[in-house]
Amino acid sequence: MALLEIKFWELDDFNAGTKSAEGRCAWGGSSCTKKPEFTVTDRTGANIGACEVHTLTYIRDRLRNGA
Ligand SMILES: [Zn+2]
Repeated sequence: MALLEIKFWELDDFNAGTKSAEGRCAWGGSSCTKKPEFTVTDRTGANIGACEVHTLTYIRDRLRNGA
């Protein structure tokens, strides 16, 4: 079991100038051009914007590697 930290994407979750703040999915890396639907929190405590596809990637990563 893993603790997942997910909420709906909000501009206030991010520092200006980041890919996530620009309304682009950052969990999927530079190849993903989708809008982030969610804000997820990585192991270092950083907020990352994630589209619906890459939110699933985040969930798999957390379940495999733990919190
Ligand atoms: Zn994505």
